Amino acid sequence: MILPGVRPAWGRGGTSLPTEAIRLPRPAGERVIVSLCYGRRVPHPALELASVSKSFGARRAVDDVSLEVAAGEFVAIVGPSGSGKTTALRLIAGFEQPDAGAVRIDGRDVTALPAERRDVSTVFQSYALFPHLSVRDNIAYGPRVRGVPRAERNRQAEELLELVQLPDAAGRRPGELSGGQQQRVALARALANRPSVLLFDEPLGALDRTLREELQLELRRIQRETGSTFVYVTHDQDEAFGMADRLAVMREGRIVQLGTPSEVYDRPADAWVATFVGDGNVVPGVFVGPVDGGTDGEVAADTDLGRLTAARAAPGLAPGARIVAVARPERTTFAAGGGADGIPAVLDDVVALGPRTRLTARTAGGTRFVSIVPREEFAAGVTPGDQVRVHLDPASLAFLPE
Ligand code: ADP
Ligand code: MG
Repeated sequence: MILPGVRPAWGRGGTSLPTEAIRLPRPAGERVIVSLCYGRRVPHPALELASVSKSFGARRAVDDVSLEVAAGEFVAIVGPSGSGKTTALRLIAGFEQPDAGAVRIDGRDVTALPAERRDVSTVFQSYALFPHLSVRDNIAYGPRVRGVPRAERNRQAEELLELVQLPDAAGRRPGELSGGQQQRVALARALANRPSVLLFDEPLGALDRTLREELQLELRRIQRETGSTFVYVTHDQDEAFGMADRLAVMREGRIVQLGTPSEVYDRPADAWVATFVGDGNVVPGVFVGPVDGGTDGEVAADTDLGRLTAARAAPGLAPGARIVAVARPERTTFAAGGGADGIPAVLDDVVALGPRTRLTARTAGGTRFVSIVPREEFAAGVTPGDQVRVHLDPASLAFLPE
């Protein structure tokens, strides 16, 4: 099946196969599937970081980071400000030299190569277009430097402008375009180089929310249609979750978790990841071990709020270890009134989120819980200040290393 809108022209080696072919189930045989798309074997990842480190003075900005990105894959590097995302990207691009480790692109060691000799293009938050050149000449700049004849590079520029949905902008100057339009031009210019890997550093950070959401969808579409390999840095976890095939979660220079969005959301590596990627309800405690006589792998932990049981614990937890119990707000419910079961708390706040309602409650000891439930499941009579009992669904509760 060929999907409407699939454009063979811009993939490396011609990705004329449908998007579905690129997205066949992973990970088994992923590289083989990708190689079939290109009609040749691709023995290497498009990008590989091998134990890369980079310090500035005493500060380890990137600390022993390893990462493989397959051809045609969209990987987001996500983490709070200062976690090393930009430095990681600059090491890939060749704007920084690592103190240790290697950078490989299409299997070739480029660690010692300057930026202009690496097969990558970067899209920055600041667009970085040439203000005195037309949009067409901005896009055709890379091809011109490579000696592509004028007619050919202009034709490519027009095609790329169609791809980024700016068909009439060729003759205009960047200064005549809005921020969102300039970022589309910057993307077209990066694609014109047909790099092995496209790098993005918070490319939508300067745009307002509506435009940002629109461009997120656009970027994802273009990445799929072109079969390009994207490494996309953002501090915005919603953006990363909505766009990427896999996330690399960075904290203090290290990748603390690497996985698909659902792996990271449903099985966060630790309490820090759990709270970074969403409103995790977190209760500290001590790991007890398997529930007595438990046959289905249930485990228990003792907390200030009593004993909690969960469907699973992180691998390697020993009895007595300090843990945090993490429950997603979608799996946390508040029951009205008193009663013996659940954790007693007082309802704090009720906020309507379209079809869902977000509730918060607080225990006498100050632990805060968030519950997100379909609007119709929330008892209408309950108002802030009322007693509730907090239920953490054992099937989705996890005990993670502190
Ligand atoms: P992020 O992009 O995740 O916000 P950065 O990679 O920019 O993080 O920065 C990681 C750490 O390295 C920060 O502590 C930052 O201050 C430091 N750092 C980054 N670049 C430099 C530099 N050129 N000189 C000194 N310190 C730097
Ligand atoms: Mg940054």
